[in-house]
Amino acid sequence: MVHSNQTDVVIIGGGVTGTSAALQLASRGVRVLLVEKKFLAAGSTGRSSAIVRQHYSNAITARMALYSLRVFQNFANVVGGTADFNNTGFLVLVATQDEAGLRENIALQQSVGINTKIISLPELREIEPSIAATDLVTAAYEPEGGYADPVATTQSFADAARARGAEIWQDTRVTRVVMERERVVGVETTRGFIATPNVINCANAWAPGIAAPLGISLPIQPERHQIAMFQQQPPREKPRVVIGDFVHQIYYRPEGPVQTLVGSVAPDGQPIANPDEYNTGADDEYIIHVGESLAERHPAMANALSKGGYSGMYGVTPDWHPIIDEIPTGSGFFVAAGFSGHGFKLSPAVGVMIADMVTRQAQPTAQLERARFRYARFAENDLVRGKYEYSIIG
Ligand SMILES: Cc1cc2nc3c(=O)[nH]c(=O)nc-3n(C[C@H](O)[C@H](O)[C@H](O)COP(=O)(O)OP(=O)(O)OC[C@H]3O[C@@H](n4cnc5c(N)ncnc54)[C@H](O)[C@@H]3O)c2cc1C
Repeated sequence: MVHSNQTDVVIIGGGVTGTSAALQLASRGVRVLLVEKKFLAAGSTGRSSAIVRQHYSNAITARMALYSLRVFQNFANVVGGTADFNNTGFLVLVATQDEAGLRENIALQQSVGINTKIISLPELREIEPSIAATDLVTAAYEPEGGYADPVATTQSFADAARARGAEIWQDTRVTRVVMERERVVGVETTRGFIATPNVINCANAWAPGIAAPLGISLPIQPERHQIAMFQQQPPREKPRVVIGDFVHQIYYRPEGPVQTLVGSVAPDGQPIANPDEYNTGADDEYIIHVGESLAERHPAMANALSKGGYSGMYGVTPDWHPIIDEIPTGSGFFVAAGFSGHGFKLSPAVGVMIADMVTRQAQPTAQLERARFRYARFAENDLVRGKYEYSIIG
């Protein structure tokens, strides 16, 4: 295979963000080389719960989520291949004292065209018969929500990008971004120098390490977040839909025919010193704690078998929203990183936003606004906030 040593754009990182960007740029006729130090989806993406919900507390990300949902729903036609999207529906449960905030969020989501509504307790029990719900809970339901397969999604983005001319090098690490007179001129890699005027840093938790030698400090903290798995025993009244339970601070969804995957919606991640070395297992206390919470919400899960768990890494920014920007403007050094715990569901929209940014498109595509994710917001103390937030929801 002949490797090019000159290209329009080098993308660093073969997760769902980098591959989605590769597809969008290649679709616009841009020559793309994506460089991944391990293999596709080796980072956060491969450990993602890949929940696809539209429940956000600000209009910008809600629009991105809705745009992306339409891609997941029509993946074979729009991208090709499969994202293995399972349309189970998505339920949000909050304590009744948070009902006003939930109602505001649902109104905001409806105003941008999201199919969601507050539901009554009888409606909740109809959707999820095995749930234990009381008067102390207020619920909202998105019938179009669900979850996908993050590895299949990434592979499909990569295949579609390749079909449009993009090159993807795995097992190749970018060791340095080379600048001359404040402009990107190329990257050094473990397979030699590649000349390019544009680099996109899609390296998530590794992004700060790539930017630091350029004098750019990216406020992205790698954090370990855990997942536990439980297997139902007969009569298998397992949860059917994806649920964000803010009373118990857990989220859970089906995993295959007999298992339930449980994560945390509390901002309780543990900082990681080195993203290449962290404990990728799950702690006993965590498994016990979320197992008890799951059984409280779904009594039929009280006798489920614990199937252990694992940990993945979030790249967390101070406001839990990404940086999508050229730093500094005109340099050819672009960053799309720091998606915290919610970058999977946004990835189809983010690929388009990156392509708009790199091709310097004057009008953003489909109301996908990038300005809110500018790097300078941290220095300006102008963080992205929703009116009402429940941790990871953003
Ligand atoms: C446990 C867990 C559950 C999650 N659940 C959800 C969810 O339900 N819904 C949701 O929307 N999001 C979820 N997320 C978040 C989501 O998965 C991430 O935001 C998203 O996958 C980030 O993708 P990425 O491509 O930006 O980063 P990554 O997938 O981390 O990719 C970065 C890549 O860069 C590569 N790289 C690093 N340095 C270099 C270098 N020098 N040279 C070349 N390559 C390099 C890495 O090897 C890696 O493959 C979850 C995350 C975790 C960990």
